[in-house]
Amino acid sequence: MKRIVAAILCTSLAYSVACQRPEETEDWSRKPEKVTPGEGTKPPSDAIVLYGGPEDIEKWESERKGPARWDAGEVLTIVPGKGGIRTKQAFGDVQLHVEWRVPAGVEGKGQDRGNSGIFLMGLYEVQVLDSYENETYYNGQASSIYKQHIPLVNASRPPGKWQTYDIIFRAPRFNSDGTLAEPAFATVIHNGVLVQNHVELLGPTRYIGKPAYKAHPEKLPLMIQDHDHTDSFRNIWIREL
Ligand code: MG
Repeated sequence: MKRIVAAILCTSLAYSVACQRPEETEDWSRKPEKVTPGEGTKPPSDAIVLYGGPEDIEKWESERKGPARWDAGEVLTIVPGKGGIRTKQAFGDVQLHVEWRVPAGVEGKGQDRGNSGIFLMGLYEVQVLDSYENETYYNGQASSIYKQHIPLVNASRPPGKWQTYDIIFRAPRFNSDGTLAEPAFATVIHNGVLVQNHVELLGPTRYIGKPAYKAHPEKLPLMIQDHDHTDSFRNIWIREL
Protein backbone atom coordinates (compact mmCIF):
# COMPACT_ATOMS: atom_id res chain seq x y z
CA MET A 1 0.00 0.00 0.00
CA LYS A 2 2.83 2.41 0.93
CA ARG A 3 4.47 1.73 -2.42
CA ILE A 4 1.31 2.50 -4.33
CA VAL A 5 0.89 5.79 -2.47
CA ALA A 6 4.55 6.67 -3.16
CA ALA A 7 4.15 5.81 -6.84
CA ILE A 8 1.08 8.02 -7.12
CA LEU A 9 2.81 10.87 -5.31
CA CYS A 10 5.95 10.49 -7.37
CA THR A 11 4.11 10.82 -10.68
CA SER A 12 2.82 14.25 -9.70
CA LEU A 13 5.12 17.16 -10.58
CA ALA A 14 5.31 18.56 -7.05
CA TYR A 15 6.89 15.40 -5.70
CA SER A 16 8.99 14.32 -8.69
CA VAL A 17 12.34 15.77 -7.52
CA ALA A 18 11.87 14.40 -4.02
CA CYS A 19 11.29 10.96 -5.49
CA GLN A 20 14.49 10.90 -7.58
CA ARG A 21 17.62 9.24 -6.31
CA PRO A 22 20.91 11.18 -6.35
CA GLU A 23 22.59 8.25 -8.16
CA GLU A 24 20.42 8.86 -11.23
CA THR A 25 22.45 11.93 -12.18
CA GLU A 26 25.89 10.49 -11.41
CA ASP A 27 28.06 10.02 -14.50
CA TRP A 28 30.63 7.22 -14.39
CA SER A 29 31.10 6.94 -18.16
CA ARG A 30 34.61 8.44 -18.41
CA LYS A 31 37.29 8.51 -15.76
CA PRO A 32 39.46 11.65 -16.21
CA GLU A 33 43.08 10.79 -16.89
CA LYS A 34 45.46 11.75 -14.13
CA VAL A 35 47.68 14.76 -14.92
CA THR A 36 50.29 16.18 -12.59
CA PRO A 37 49.82 19.95 -12.75
CA GLY A 38 52.76 22.21 -13.50
CA GLU A 39 54.59 24.11 -10.80
CA GLY A 40 56.50 27.32 -11.42
CA THR A 41 57.82 26.99 -14.98
CA LYS A 42 57.24 23.23 -15.04
CA PRO A 43 54.49 22.28 -17.51
CA PRO A 44 51.71 19.81 -16.74
CA SER A 45 52.76 16.16 -17.10
CA ASP A 46 50.82 15.59 -20.33
CA ALA A 47 52.09 18.71 -22.14
CA ILE A 48 54.33 18.63 -25.18
CA VAL A 49 57.25 20.95 -24.48
CA LEU A 50 57.91 23.06 -27.56
CA TYR A 51 60.61 25.22 -26.03
CA GLY A 52 62.24 24.60 -22.67
CA GLY A 53 65.88 25.10 -23.69
CA PRO A 54 68.29 25.11 -26.66
CA GLU A 55 67.82 21.43 -27.55
CA ASP A 56 64.16 22.11 -28.33
CA ILE A 57 65.06 24.18 -31.41
CA GLU A 58 65.05 20.78 -33.14
CA LYS A 59 61.26 20.80 -32.77
CA TRP A 60 61.06 23.86 -35.04
CA GLU A 61 61.90 24.71 -38.63
CA SER A 62 62.00 27.87 -40.69
CA GLU A 63 58.72 28.83 -42.37
CA ARG A 64 60.94 29.17 -45.45
CA LYS A 65 61.97 25.52 -45.00
CA GLY A 66 65.26 24.34 -43.49
CA PRO A 67 66.34 24.74 -39.86
CA ALA A 68 64.99 27.46 -37.59
CA ARG A 69 67.63 30.19 -37.58
CA TRP A 70 66.67 32.05 -34.42
CA ASP A 71 68.96 32.51 -31.42
CA ALA A 72 68.25 29.36 -29.38
CA GLY A 73 69.66 29.73 -25.86
CA GLU A 74 67.93 29.42 -22.51
CA VAL A 75 65.36 31.60 -24.22
CA LEU A 76 64.49 31.72 -27.89
CA THR A 77 65.09 35.10 -29.57
CA ILE A 78 64.03 36.25 -33.01
CA VAL A 79 66.86 36.99 -35.43
CA PRO A 80 65.23 39.62 -37.65
CA GLY A 81 65.15 38.74 -41.31
CA LYS A 82 65.46 34.99 -40.75
CA GLY A 83 61.74 34.43 -41.14
CA GLY A 84 59.15 32.95 -38.84
CA ILE A 85 59.53 29.50 -37.32
CA ARG A 86 57.00 26.71 -37.15
CA THR A 87 56.73 23.47 -35.25
CA LYS A 88 57.55 20.25 -37.07
CA GLN A 89 54.49 18.73 -35.39
CA ALA A 90 51.00 19.76 -36.51
CA PHE A 91 48.20 20.61 -34.06
CA GLY A 92 44.45 21.16 -34.12
CA ASP A 93 42.52 21.85 -30.89
CA VAL A 94 45.01 22.90 -28.23
CA GLN A 95 45.80 24.55 -24.95
CA LEU A 96 48.96 26.59 -25.49
CA HIS A 97 51.23 28.33 -23.01
CA VAL A 98 53.80 30.84 -24.26
CA GLU A 99 56.00 33.29 -22.36
CA TRP A 100 57.27 36.26 -24.34
CA ARG A 101 59.30 39.40 -23.79
CA VAL A 102 59.72 42.56 -25.76
CA PRO A 103 63.29 43.84 -25.20
CA ALA A 104 63.82 46.60 -22.64
CA GLY A 105 64.60 49.89 -24.34
CA VAL A 106 62.51 48.92 -27.35
CA GLU A 107 62.12 51.72 -29.89
CA GLY A 108 59.56 52.47 -32.57
CA LYS A 109 55.84 53.01 -32.15
CA GLY A 110 52.51 51.52 -33.14
CA GLN A 111 52.95 48.20 -34.93
CA ASP A 112 56.71 48.85 -35.18
CA ARG A 113 57.39 48.07 -31.52
CA GLY A 114 58.12 44.54 -30.39
CA ASN A 115 55.86 43.00 -33.01
CA SER A 116 55.64 39.24 -33.38
CA GLY A 117 52.69 36.88 -33.29
CA ILE A 118 51.51 33.45 -32.27
CA PHE A 119 49.89 31.88 -35.31
CA LEU A 120 47.66 28.94 -34.36
CA MET A 121 47.75 26.45 -37.22
CA GLY A 122 50.09 28.94 -38.92
CA LEU A 123 46.99 30.93 -39.88
CA TYR A 124 45.25 32.53 -36.91
CA GLU A 125 47.28 35.24 -35.14
CA VAL A 126 47.23 36.22 -31.50
CA GLN A 127 49.21 39.45 -31.71
CA VAL A 128 52.47 39.94 -29.80
CA LEU A 129 53.37 43.61 -29.42
CA ASP A 130 54.59 46.11 -26.86
CA SER A 131 51.23 47.58 -25.89
CA TYR A 132 52.28 48.90 -22.48
CA GLU A 133 52.31 52.57 -23.46
CA ASN A 134 52.02 52.31 -27.18
CA GLU A 135 48.79 52.94 -28.98
CA THR A 136 47.84 51.33 -32.26
CA TYR A 137 44.54 50.21 -33.77
CA TYR A 138 42.90 48.27 -30.94
CA ASN A 139 42.33 45.08 -32.92
CA GLY A 140 46.08 45.09 -33.58
CA GLN A 141 47.42 45.55 -30.05
CA ALA A 142 48.91 42.80 -27.88
CA SER A 143 46.49 39.89 -27.26
CA SER A 144 44.16 40.96 -30.05
CA ILE A 145 43.04 38.37 -32.52
CA TYR A 146 44.77 40.38 -35.18
CA LYS A 147 42.33 42.57 -37.11
CA GLN A 148 39.38 40.57 -35.77
CA HIS A 149 38.92 41.02 -32.02
CA ILE A 150 40.00 43.79 -29.63
CA PRO A 151 41.13 42.38 -26.24
CA LEU A 152 38.68 42.94 -23.36
CA VAL A 153 41.38 44.84 -21.43
CA ASN A 154 45.03 45.79 -21.85
CA ALA A 155 46.95 43.53 -19.44
CA SER A 156 50.40 44.38 -20.85
CA ARG A 157 53.56 44.52 -18.77
CA PRO A 158 56.33 47.00 -19.59
CA PRO A 159 59.03 46.12 -22.14
CA GLY A 160 61.77 43.92 -20.66
CA LYS A 161 59.28 42.02 -18.46
CA TRP A 162 58.18 38.47 -19.26
CA GLN A 163 54.52 38.10 -20.20
CA THR A 164 52.37 35.00 -20.57
CA TYR A 165 49.71 33.85 -22.97
CA ASP A 166 47.46 30.92 -22.19
CA ILE A 167 45.41 30.18 -25.26
CA ILE A 168 42.61 27.70 -25.74
CA PHE A 169 42.01 27.16 -29.41
CA ARG A 170 39.36 25.16 -31.19
CA ALA A 171 40.21 24.53 -34.83
CA PRO A 172 37.59 25.14 -37.51
CA ARG A 173 35.74 22.18 -39.00
CA PHE A 174 35.11 21.80 -42.71
CA ASN A 175 32.58 19.69 -44.58
CA SER A 176 33.80 17.19 -47.16
CA ASP A 177 32.84 19.65 -49.93
CA GLY A 178 35.18 22.24 -48.40
CA THR A 179 32.49 24.50 -46.94
CA LEU A 180 32.76 25.66 -43.34
CA ALA A 181 31.01 23.43 -40.79
CA GLU A 182 32.15 25.24 -37.63
CA PRO A 183 34.37 28.30 -37.28
CA ALA A 184 37.45 28.41 -35.04
CA PHE A 185 37.19 29.78 -31.49
CA ALA A 186 39.84 31.21 -29.20
CA THR A 187 40.10 32.08 -25.55
CA VAL A 188 43.18 34.06 -24.48
CA ILE A 189 44.47 34.79 -20.99
CA HIS A 190 47.21 37.45 -20.90
CA ASN A 191 49.30 37.59 -17.73
CA GLY A 192 46.51 35.76 -15.90
CA VAL A 193 43.80 38.12 -17.18
CA LEU A 194 41.04 36.97 -19.53
CA VAL A 195 41.29 39.07 -22.69
CA GLN A 196 39.51 36.98 -25.35
CA ASN A 197 36.47 35.05 -24.14
CA HIS A 198 35.69 32.24 -26.58
CA VAL A 199 35.63 34.57 -29.58
CA GLU A 200 34.66 33.33 -33.00
CA LEU A 201 37.36 33.66 -35.63
CA LEU A 202 36.22 34.99 -38.97
CA GLY A 203 38.91 33.19 -40.96
CA PRO A 204 42.70 33.16 -41.26
CA THR A 205 44.41 36.41 -40.27
CA ARG A 206 44.65 38.95 -43.04
CA TYR A 207 46.59 42.22 -43.08
CA ILE A 208 44.47 43.68 -45.88
CA GLY A 209 40.80 42.91 -46.50
CA LYS A 210 38.18 40.82 -44.78
CA PRO A 211 39.08 37.33 -43.57
CA ALA A 212 37.38 34.30 -45.14
CA TYR A 213 37.65 30.58 -44.47
CA LYS A 214 39.14 28.17 -46.95
CA ALA A 215 39.27 24.44 -46.15
CA HIS A 216 42.56 23.25 -44.67
CA PRO A 217 43.87 20.13 -42.89
CA GLU A 218 42.62 19.24 -39.39
CA LYS A 219 46.11 19.81 -37.97
CA LEU A 220 48.77 22.34 -39.00
CA PRO A 221 52.02 23.58 -37.42
CA LEU A 222 52.10 26.38 -34.87
CA MET A 223 54.04 29.40 -36.16
CA ILE A 224 55.79 32.33 -34.47
CA GLN A 225 56.21 35.45 -36.56
CA ASP A 226 59.40 37.30 -37.45
CA HIS A 227 58.32 40.93 -37.73
CA ASP A 228 61.88 42.33 -37.61
CA HIS A 229 61.92 42.77 -33.84
CA THR A 230 64.08 40.91 -31.31
CA ASP A 231 61.35 39.52 -29.05
CA SER A 232 62.20 36.48 -26.92
CA PHE A 233 60.18 33.41 -25.97
CA ARG A 234 60.51 30.74 -23.32
CA ASN A 235 58.59 27.95 -21.64
CA ILE A 236 56.39 27.13 -24.62
CA TRP A 237 54.20 24.08 -24.09
CA ILE A 238 51.09 22.72 -25.67
CA ARG A 239 48.39 20.16 -24.83
CA GLU A 240 46.37 18.51 -27.54
CA LEU A 241 42.67 18.55 -26.71
MG1 MG B 1 52.26 40.38 -35.38
